[in-house]
Amino acid sequence: MTEFPLWAPPAPVSLPVKGLSERAAVNRIFCVGRNYLAHAAEMGHKVEKEGDRPFYFTKSPQALVDSGATIPYPPETRNCHHEMELVVVIGAPGFRVAPERAHELIYGYACGLDLTRRDLQLAAREKGRPWDLGKDFENAAVVSEIVPMPGVLLERGWIKLLVNGAIKQKSDLGNLIWSVREIVADLSLFYHLAPGDLIFTGTPDGVGPVKPGDKLEGKIEGVGTIALTIGPAEA
Ligand code: MN
Repeated sequence: MTEFPLWAPPAPVSLPVKGLSERAAVNRIFCVGRNYLAHAAEMGHKVEKEGDRPFYFTKSPQALVDSGATIPYPPETRNCHHEMELVVVIGAPGFRVAPERAHELIYGYACGLDLTRRDLQLAAREKGRPWDLGKDFENAAVVSEIVPMPGVLLERGWIKLLVNGAIKQKSDLGNLIWSVREIVADLSLFYHLAPGDLIFTGTPDGVGPVKPGDKLEGKIEGVGTIALTIGPAEA
């Protein structure tokens, strides 16, 4: 048998923080599915909040990439989509947190792009298989610098995404089906939320394909901007 040396631990995953020189460690990445009515509708779903609950999927921390990056067009897809989202950054631990106290866990916010291999996601969805190949892949979680806003609940403010300068997604955080408060409280029933956990809160309508050469620019009122360039696929 070949001798294998043990490997070095992977580099810690982190994000820049506005106003600080040090980066914040990232723990887990949670994502909310179908959290704007108009996006649920464009994906062929109706959401009735009454009697329903939010649902989640996760991305590996290894899927994270900083805003401003150029990434290769992702492998094994012919339909990679942009999804512009508000990202909640958890800064304090919490388990089974009441909605009235959910804001106490919030460190701040960031802009996020939940890149999605839509063809793989939909193929999985049709077969009742997990979404991982469609959602959790390298460079699939693009996140801006974290903007500290301790204890603040963002409940309104425009959110938009431009591709090559043309507006593709535009909505308002007030259109979230489940609010930031409700999501933090609900997710904390399933997980012990911890500092460094990120929560992608869902995308508005207008999702669509990206292609090599595209320049994406997202903005959220009161949070900031995010940028991404799609490069050629890897040979
Ligand atoms: Mn999403």
